[in-house]
Amino acid sequence: QEGDVSIELIECVDFAAIKHRNQRRKDSDSTPYINHPVGVARILTSEAGIKDLIVLQAALLHDTVEDTDTTFEELEKKFGKAVTDVVREVTDDKSLPSEERKRLQIVHAPTSSHEAKLVKLADKLYNLRDLCKGTPRGWSSRRCEEYFKWSKKVVDGLRGNCPAIEKELDKIFIAKGLM
Ligand code: NDP
Ligand code: ZN
Repeated sequence: QEGDVSIELIECVDFAAIKHRNQRRKDSDSTPYINHPVGVARILTSEAGIKDLIVLQAALLHDTVEDTDTTFEELEKKFGKAVTDVVREVTDDKSLPSEERKRLQIVHAPTSSHEAKLVKLADKLYNLRDLCKGTPRGWSSRRCEEYFKWSKKVVDGLRGNCPAIEKELDKIFIAKGLM
C-alpha cells in the first residue's frame, strides 16, 4: 500500500514538472517554477507532518490550472475528483481583474475546506519566504509591502487549521510589523 502512495505522488510531480516546464519564478535567479509546488508539498510533509495523500497531491498540482493550459477535466481524469476539488478551491479565476481576484481570496479563505486551507497556508508561507529573500524582478518595495499586508488578510481567514505553518507565518508577519 505504501508503494501505491509513492507512485501516486510521483505521477503528480511528473505531471506538474511537464506542465510548468517553460515557467520560471519571479525571483532574481528565475528559479524553475516547479521548485514552488514541490516546496509547498514539502512544507506540508516536513514542517506540518501532513500525510494526507489528497492534500499532498493537490499541493503538487495547485498551480497547474491557474498558470498552465491544464484543465480541471484533465486533472479529474488523471487524479480523481477529490484532488481536483481541492485544486479548484485554490485556483483563482484568471478571467477576473487581478484586484478582484485578490479580494476574492480574502472572502473565500474562511469557507474553504480544511484540505484547501492547508494547501493555501503552505502556498502563502512559501511565497512570503521567497519575498523575504528578495524582491521579485520589477517589483517596488511598496508592492512587496502590499503583498505582505494582503497575504495577512488571506491567512487570517485560514487560521485554526495548522499550528506549525501558522506559527511560521506569524514570525514573518511580526518581523514585518503586521502583528
Ligand atoms: P501578484 O502580484 O500577486 O504576484 C505574486 C504571485 O507570483 C505570488 O502569489 C506567486 O503566486 C507568484 N510568484 C512567483 N515568483 C514569486 C516570488 N519570487 N515571490 C513571491 N511570489 C512569487 O500577481 P500578478 O503577477 O498577477 O500581479 C497582479 C497584481 O499585482 C494585482 O493585484 C495588481 O494590482 C498588482 N500590482 C501592483 C503593483 C504595485 O506596484 N503595487 C504594480 C503592478 C501590479 P503562485 O503561488 O501562484 O506562484
Ligand atoms: Zn502557488
